[in-house]
Amino acid sequence: NTILKIENLEVNIKDKEILKGLNLEIKEGEVHALMGTNGAGKSTLVKALSAHYDCIVTGGIITYKNKNLLDLDVSQRANEGIFMSFQSPIEVPGVNNSYFLKTALNEKRKYNGLEEIDAMEFLKLVKEETAKFNIDRKLLQRDLNDGFSGGEKKRNELIQLLMLKPDLILLDEIDSGLDVDAIKTVANVINSMLDGKKSILMITHYDRLLELIKPDFVHILNDGKIVKTGDYTLALELDEKGYEAIGIKDENK
Ligand code: ADP
Ligand code: MG
Ligand code: MG
Repeated sequence: NTILKIENLEVNIKDKEILKGLNLEIKEGEVHALMGTNGAGKSTLVKALSAHYDCIVTGGIITYKNKNLLDLDVSQRANEGIFMSFQSPIEVPGVNNSYFLKTALNEKRKYNGLEEIDAMEFLKLVKEETAKFNIDRKLLQRDLNDGFSGGEKKRNELIQLLMLKPDLILLDEIDSGLDVDAIKTVANVINSMLDGKKSILMITHYDRLLELIKPDFVHILNDGKIVKTGDYTLALELDEKGYEAIGIKDENK
């Protein structure tokens, strides 16, 4: 079953054409990695999927779970099971992290016809989920991302993932700036979520995370389109030879 189908997607940022007819199909249970030189538009793609205000979709069709994704606003997309890990998550002083996550979880539950859970149940669930992966949950007592280090922001996203259990997980360089142990934790959490139904689109430059997660497909984004698709070995080839050797122009040069 296809969870996400992107056809001829065109996206502008500040009147500049970034995506120029991008096609991508993701089936349930699949892990896709998206690679490409700096500024190729990788973040733009996942931002467009999560209705980020930077992106103006000027053409194309995005179908998610047989619905027109472009008809759904940010919170509907989240409630329909799309989760986005941002390259730089925003800091929200004054909003308690635990409260924020419980609210998001309950919004999603209500949207999907489930009963809300109370603070006790929420805490119990958080304890269970974080204990499995040895993730420190003290972060929940603070304000959302407020003064969090890069590593803490990423760990917080793992807690969100574990609690929200999204169906389509978009990861934008979730491994950047993390040490080896933290990358292992990221990979363990993500691998634990792969139940044959959930799908992942991950952006990464680092083969360590790819080694641990082993995507089914690797795509290269260049000049606004996906220009090459392969299996995991394409990432290895890229790592070894670089973009130019496999015929991809680096637009930064
Ligand atoms: P990648 O994630 O592949 O490195 P991005 O999707 O972040 O690339 O960026 C694609 C292009 O869009 C780049 O040329 C970048 O400078 C531009 N861009 C991204 N965000 C903005 C913004 N908020 N304002 C202006 N230009 C932007
Ligand atoms: Mg970049
Ligand atoms: Mg980026």
